[in-house]
Amino acid sequence: MSKTLVMKFGGTSVGSVDALKNAIQIIRDAKKDWERVVVVTSAMSGVTNLLLDSAASASHGKVDSLPAAESSLREKHFAAADALIKDESLREQTKSEINALIFSLVDLCKAIAVLGEASPRAMDTVASLGERMSVRLLAAVVHDAGIPAHGIESTEFIVTNANFQNAHPDFNVTTEKTRGKLNPLMDKGIVPITTGFIGATPEGAITTLGRGGSDYSAAIIGAVLPANDVWIWTDVDGVMTTDPRIAPDAQTLPEISYGEIAELAYYGAKVLHSKTIRPVVEAGIGLRICNTFNLSHPGTRLI
Ligand code: ADP
Ligand code: ASP
Ligand code: MG
Repeated sequence: MSKTLVMKFGGTSVGSVDALKNAIQIIRDAKKDWERVVVVTSAMSGVTNLLLDSAASASHGKVDSLPAAESSLREKHFAAADALIKDESLREQTKSEINALIFSLVDLCKAIAVLGEASPRAMDTVASLGERMSVRLLAAVVHDAGIPAHGIESTEFIVTNANFQNAHPDFNVTTEKTRGKLNPLMDKGIVPITTGFIGATPEGAITTLGRGGSDYSAAIIGAVLPANDVWIWTDVDGVMTTDPRIAPDAQTLPEISYGEIAELAYYGAKVLHSKTIRPVVEAGIGLRICNTFNLSHPGTRLI
């Protein structure tokens, strides 16, 4: 049996009931082949944009779209919780924790509207709510499916500088904290399920690693544990010759070199956050990009 696997699920991969069902299956299968599995989740698709749009409107004094944002967030998360968490007390607990985070969005936006500005620090606190909601949902649905799992916010172990909206991790402190938080769970056979995208300063202010940063979170966690492999679960078969949304005849590459992927990321290919490659290559960790909606496809391997 292989040792340690870090799997990251992107927004679409946790964005609907069907996607979450596949994610559960993927985690169940991984547990059969790997001694230790860590799961990193993005916010449900569309959520980070909705949160940041709400904060941006608030900074112009506009809070009239808040009720719609609130109900859309509630609807999205609660529909999944209702469909996938059979245990009533776990379901209600999960929904009430998500609801509390939605209320904090409203409070934050009202405060931003009063001030008439949203600092980068405030924007990060708002943006963090997406992953803080999805991690509760995913941990609960996985646990309810009979897989021992525990939700934990990465703000507890990814320590960054105060460069809000594009924070840089302190790898020494992050190594010690990540091992200290995740190893005891994994020693007990529990799958830690954690937030991508976010960290915290040594003083505890929430930071983000930049848009699309959950891939980077998975790479950081993989590098510091260290893991043997990091798998990025997304909504396409792997890294393709070009953006499939622009070129429908784009081909999936079974293998990609460090140089090729760095170039794609440099030119802005959204499939992988540009900072993801370096930590995995430096730590000698395998990287694979695969499709949550096409489980039999091998995806792309970094070689
Ligand atoms: P996730 O939410 O899983 O992180 P993203 O939307 O951030 O997913 O990235 C996946 C998307 O990246 C694909 O749906 C695809 O449209 C886009 N994309 C752009 N360039 C490429 C490429 N070269 N190969 C694959 N996907 C690409
Ligand atoms: N949810 C964050 C974003 O939309 C991070 C990520 O999805 O990787 O930017
Ligand atoms: Mg992404």
